[in-house]
Amino acid sequence: MPQTPLEIQQNIPLAPFTTLRIGGPARYFAEIRTEAALLEAIAFARKNSLPVFVLGGGSNLLVADSGFDGLVLHIALDGTPSSTSNGSSIEYTVPAGAEWNAFVLSVCGQGISGVECLAGIPGTVGGTPVQNVGAYGQEVAETVVAVRVLDLETTDFVTLSNSECGFAYRRSIFNTTHRGRYIVTAVTFRFHHGRKPHLTYADLTRYFGETQPAPIEVYHAVRTIRHGKGMLIVEGEPDSRSAGSFFKNPIVALDTLQRIGDTLQLSHDKIPHWPAESGQIKLPAAWLLERAGFVKGYILGNAGISSRHTLALINRGDAHAADIFALRDAIQQKVNALFGIHLEQEPVQLGR
Ligand SMILES: Cc1cc2nc3c(=O)[nH]c(=O)nc-3n(C[C@H](O)[C@H](O)[C@H](O)COP(=O)(O)OP(=O)(O)OC[C@H]3O[C@@H](n4cnc5c(N)ncnc54)[C@H](O)[C@@H]3O)c2cc1C
Repeated sequence: MPQTPLEIQQNIPLAPFTTLRIGGPARYFAEIRTEAALLEAIAFARKNSLPVFVLGGGSNLLVADSGFDGLVLHIALDGTPSSTSNGSSIEYTVPAGAEWNAFVLSVCGQGISGVECLAGIPGTVGGTPVQNVGAYGQEVAETVVAVRVLDLETTDFVTLSNSECGFAYRRSIFNTTHRGRYIVTAVTFRFHHGRKPHLTYADLTRYFGETQPAPIEVYHAVRTIRHGKGMLIVEGEPDSRSAGSFFKNPIVALDTLQRIGDTLQLSHDKIPHWPAESGQIKLPAAWLLERAGFVKGYILGNAGISSRHTLALINRGDAHAADIFALRDAIQQKVNALFGIHLEQEPVQLGR
């Protein structure tokens, strides 16, 4: 069968490809439906000395109003996942452009647990290893066994193992040490039969009480809980025009508690925190925002804070990237001035 030729379009607005619905045009834009098309697009970029940006579902992305003066590769590699089973476990290899939630639904629908807490996270399968997506005490690092990538240094397709991906909290080699080197074309997940759904977070244990739910019930519960927090994309709901949590939970030295306590005149045990790596602690960014006056429903021009989730910055309708930047900067400056903590932005930023 003849291959569909790769179409490189020009001057394509990026806002419709992002959940924030913000962003200027890409100078060049290509839908990538096969690995052959990916190679062709990379050759085009190299021949024309263009920078390349890989776009999945645009749900963790803030595109500048000036857009991107290069080639955007929209990963649309899709198709039915392939599976192999060995009795006690089953592996699925899923194309990178497949919708993440649809995959979660199909796994949970078969009575298999492992990703049930990650229901309702928007975006593509290929986007999930990049920041090691996680929610309600579960993250993809627990089930990813291999990631197939195009290595832009060698222009070879290679398979990286879980440990080679360097997963940590909202991190992997794809968004840290090897940012820009690999393009994910497929991800393989392994699930063990007979495992019970993961119910550690209070929201979920409260929801189910003493009952032991099936994975599909957890799937639906997570979506309901997320909806209540404005963390589910529902067409037409203003709180849906976000990129999810805009700030990471900061990991800081233990003595930061002292500084926060002094500023707020609070005793340490009143400051929520969890143990983190190397004797440090993790603080809830949402709590810091609220204490700094950035509460749900806060408005700054055309940008705002979701009425249901303190950490979600939203496009109130006609926002530009500049509006989101202004709100972000105001939050970062105030939190830094009050507590000496720099809040790190979670969504990837394309352009300035
Ligand atoms: C309402 C809402 C709720 C969310 N909830 C959560 C949550 O609970 N937990 C969580 O972790 N995240 C959450 N997110 C963030 C986001 O959905 C995830 O990070 C998601 O995995 C991003 O995937 P994507 O396909 O949309 O990637 P994009 O936003 O398109 O891209 C994000 C980054 O990944 C890179 N990338 C994407 N695809 C590929 C690929 N195939 N190969 C190489 N690089 C690639 C891009 O270049 C970019 O750097 C939420 C977002 C929203 C809008």
